[in-house]
Amino acid sequence: MPFIITDPCIGTKDSACVDVCPVDCIHPRKDEPEFEQTTMLYIHPEECIDCGACVPACPVAAIYESIDATPSHQKDLIEANAVYRNGDPDAMAKGEAIVQAHIAAQPELMAIPPAERQAAHASH
Ligand code: SF4
Ligand code: SF4
Repeated sequence: MPFIITDPCIGTKDSACVDVCPVDCIHPRKDEPEFEQTTMLYIHPEECIDCGACVPACPVAAIYESIDATPSHQKDLIEANAVYRNGDPDAMAKGEAIVQAHIAAQPELMAIPPAERQAAHASH
């Protein structure tokens, strides 16, 4: 069961998770041209080995250990992680469209600083 990146990555995107991932399954990396185009980073669900290294590395608690562990207010982004494929324009557009819909559906919550966003979601 893959790990999932959720919305506190939006506005953070610092790549701390990429630096600790042993299998290079989080994209785009800062050294990939796609990095500037994407709103957040994504975990490839079939390449992730469930090692857990990325969770404590994330400064804004954006990463969950499984689909089941992902809270209801972030469930739409499970699919974004699942469909995104770095370097594939159609797959990238699909992932980003889900993220943009997630942002558009809750502008007030998304305006909250990333480090406080999970708590704000949970209290709604
Ligand atoms: S759980 Fe491990 S393999 Fe999966 S994305 Fe995180 S660091 Fe990479
Ligand atoms: S460490 Fe967290 S905020 Fe930073 S890029 Fe990874 S998921 Fe996004």
